[in-house]
Amino acid sequence: MSNPTRLVQTCAVIGAGPVGLAAAAHLLERGITPVVLEAGPAAGAAIGRWGHVRLFSPWRFDIDPAARRLLEGAGWSEPDPDDLPTGGELLAHYLEPLAAALAPHIRYGARVTGVTRLDADKTRTIDREGRPYLVRTVNADGTSSDVVADAVIDASGVWDRPNPLGAHGLPAPGETADAPWQVGPLPDVLGADRARFAGRRTLVVGAGHSAANTLIALAELAETAPGTEVAWAIRGRSAAKVYGGGSADALPARGSIGTRLRVLVESGAIKLVTDFAIHAFETAADGSVTVAGTSGALAARFDVDNVAAATGFRPDLELLREVRLDLDAAVEAPARLAPLIDPNFHSCGTVPPHGEADLAHPDEGFYIVGVKSYGRAPTFLLATGYEQVRSIAAALAGDREAADQVRLALPETGVCSSSPALDATSIADAEEAADCCGSSAAVEAPARGLATGVLHGRAGERVEPPQVQSGCCG
Ligand SMILES: Cc1cc2nc3c(=O)[nH]c(=O)nc-3n(C[C@H](O)[C@H](O)[C@H](O)COP(=O)(O)OP(=O)(O)OC[C@H]3O[C@@H](n4cnc5c(N)ncnc54)[C@H](O)[C@@H]3O)c2cc1C
Repeated sequence: MSNPTRLVQTCAVIGAGPVGLAAAAHLLERGITPVVLEAGPAAGAAIGRWGHVRLFSPWRFDIDPAARRLLEGAGWSEPDPDDLPTGGELLAHYLEPLAAALAPHIRYGARVTGVTRLDADKTRTIDREGRPYLVRTVNADGTSSDVVADAVIDASGVWDRPNPLGAHGLPAPGETADAPWQVGPLPDVLGADRARFAGRRTLVVGAGHSAANTLIALAELAETAPGTEVAWAIRGRSAAKVYGGGSADALPARGSIGTRLRVLVESGAIKLVTDFAIHAFETAADGSVTVAGTSGALAARFDVDNVAAATGFRPDLELLREVRLDLDAAVEAPARLAPLIDPNFHSCGTVPPHGEADLAHPDEGFYIVGVKSYGRAPTFLLATGYEQVRSIAAALAGDREAADQVRLALPETGVCSSSPALDATSIADAEEAADCCGSSAAVEAPARGLATGVLHGRAGERVEPPQVQSGCCG
């Protein structure tokens, strides 16, 4: 059922990330009282883990309209819309002031462990509709609390659930989250974590924005720290999707992260192994590891000190076990949204806007939003999430017309595609670099990031002959 007919006065919001806080701002505008439950000690806890990484979307796409209205009333000065913030800047200049403005509505150190209908488990159908929700939290002091609300918006993200490194979608034997060689998806290679990588051997696994960021930082470190070795393993038969370029690009790729990566691989600074499947990890007494697998039909192995698992994320559905959900079997996104974002057929440049009607579940008044709503698809953008929660707040307030008027002004190529300028910190820098590089294509809003303008997702991947077939470090 997409439109709750009962009066909604309270709504629990799980997670104080950018989309959870935006949801709270929209709910308040609609006269609904939000209760934001955040597991971490502060807002934006997940973004704090990648604060050193610069976003590829400029500020104009990073600020929710209702949040802006709330902040403007609190004397906030809006950052330059064309600047590209780091995760840390997004926290300092937007999420922290926003959390302060919403402070009476946020509970920190409150990890949600379960959502259900009050006095009704999942199997109970009679008198189900219209029941409030009960949201259970485990708090920082170890106690447990229950929050009762008329509706629930799950904006808890996916950061805590990285995909496993092992082949087949399962952890390989010897793969544990606390293994000494695990360095997480986005280590701060040139900053806080430098000592961990300087003069050591690192394998980066994955073929997305996070992998590219880490690889480029490692290659930069290797220029000044002797003995630093960098290997890159991907599941596909080609890195063409990561490099971008040619007809697969919506923007000129010159100077982009993808192009920089290609140069580093072709120069031998990064050793690439394609078609790689990991079958086992053997941890040595000194904390290093042997990564054993296959590259195509050949056995391949890496002996390394660190492994960066940039393999993407999957949603935590366990806490939603008692809610009646309608999720896509493959993407683990809401069933009507999934075909719009299926990574087999879509990149972020081709994801259409969507709202409450596409996000509803059989249990009315319950929604998954933000990056978690994309399930296993890697193409989520903040601007999309802000439109999701605007539409949901309108529906919860009974304004069906506003809920269904889904509008999203994303330049098709400018938010998630490659920039002509890897080091640009603003759109102006990026445009200057585009001019200097002789780019002739029309660039609506150049942005930093990977060339993800592949029109047909994985189905559009180009296959190139395999490149290096053995690891540097093995
Ligand atoms: C490196 C990187 C760069 C990105 N760059 C861009 C970009 O340039 N442009 C763009 O549009 N998007 C970008 N994204 C994608 C996306 O916008 C971000 O992932 C964004 O943080 C998603 O916001 P969210 O609110 O959905 O989730 P999150 O930011 O992950 O917030 C979820 C919150 O929920 C909390 N939480 C988790 N579990 C629970 C629980 N059980 N109970 C209570 N609280 C819980 C977490 O602590 C966290 O605070 C980027 C993502 C990454 C990783």
